[in-house]
Amino acid sequence: STSMASEKEAALAATPPDADSPTIFDKIINKEIPSTVVYEDDKVLAFRDIQPQGPVHILLIPKVRDGLTGISKAEERHIDILGRLLYTAKLVAKQEGLDDGYRVVINDGPKGCQSVYHIHVHVIGGRQMNWPPG
Ligand code: AMP
Repeated sequence: STSMASEKEAALAATPPDADSPTIFDKIINKEIPSTVVYEDDKVLAFRDIQPQGPVHILLIPKVRDGLTGISKAEERHIDILGRLLYTAKLVAKQEGLDDGYRVVINDGPKGCQSVYHIHVHVIGGRQMNWPPG
């Protein structure tokens, strides 16, 4: 399992790339590496996180990154996909039976503990979440 420290180390080790650098999520989109897909449409892919931080931990990503390495790089052209990612987070949470609540997270940059520079929305649930987050 991932300790907070190793996740932080991965985030600090990850080099924020330019808009064209591929990430491991491209391989997931292209089915070059396996993932457990829980939802897919023409724009969004949702799959289980390989190091889950709760009984349910799903990542939602745009199939086309279009420069959206992270939320800090959002431009007006990304408004539709950003809305779609959040709406799909709700659909997936419902599909997963998270009827008593869940956490939706976007990590950004080294201090936000982002480790993959293809924007993704985390949906974490199935346990009591805490606040403040670590
Ligand atoms: P972040 O730290 O917000 O950038 O989140 C990246 C997430 O991607 C982490 O929670 C990782 O566990 C997850 N991850 C990395 N590689 C894979 C993979 N091959 N399949 C599923 N999840 C992955």
